[in-house]
Amino acid sequence: MSERNRADGERASEEATVLLAPNAGPMTLDGTNSYVLRTPGSPSAIVVDPGPDDPAHLARLAAAGPVELVLITHHHADHVAGAAAFAALVGAPTRAFDPEFCIGAEPLVDGETVRAAGLSLEVLHTPGHTADSACFLVHGAAGPAMLTGDTILGRGTTIIADPDGALGPYLASLERLRALAGPADGPVPALPAHGPVLPDLVAICDAYLAHRAERLAQVRAALAELGADASAEAVTDLVYHDTDASVRQAAEASVRAQLAHLRGGRS
Ligand SMILES: [Zn+2]
Repeated sequence: MSERNRADGERASEEATVLLAPNAGPMTLDGTNSYVLRTPGSPSAIVVDPGPDDPAHLARLAAAGPVELVLITHHHADHVAGAAAFAALVGAPTRAFDPEFCIGAEPLVDGETVRAAGLSLEVLHTPGHTADSACFLVHGAAGPAMLTGDTILGRGTTIIADPDGALGPYLASLERLRALAGPADGPVPALPAHGPVLPDLVAICDAYLAHRAERLAQVRAALAELGADASAEAVTDLVYHDTDASVRQAAEASVRAQLAHLRGGRS
């Protein structure tokens, strides 16, 4: 069975269902996970990330019930390209950190509680993947769950796209998510915008932080070998030599973010 079949329509929690957009690719894994959120029994729903401008996908999301609110995790096209068409289709306000993607509503505010579809969601500004990245903590009947957007993915690791993304803020965002999910009654699941749901946010934050530390050590070693002023291309050749050509550009963007971090003295 393909990944697509496995994830699509999956109940990620009591309150969250995944509808997978048909936009699989090297940067989107199986495609974008659009989430439909509602407290059990609520007639209306919240939709997080309508995804690409794909009429069939947007129609499936709209069929999930009256949509009370649309939330956007960040401005990348695989999350927002369909947002305006979707808002027009369902007549719901759309909120994001970036005012450009808000429709009929105010931008999100870090720390605010959003109430809709019988749910309360805590809004977190988690810059790093992009400057406008958001995570949403859903307070569910069985405990909290964190919608992580592209800040944490279901498989592999997230790209920090310099200059919109930045490594220092990203590491701080991971630490913040980790602390928030820390002393809970049980593990807090991570519901990513690409790939499968992960059972334990603390474990995945630890793995991501360890991965970043390891990559930074590799970049430092590359600079020691190539010279402090080495280009991002040369460092990428050395550190990401085993990377597939399809994600080479992303690897180079990631190296630029790491070099900016190291050269900014924020190591
Ligand atoms: Zn993204």
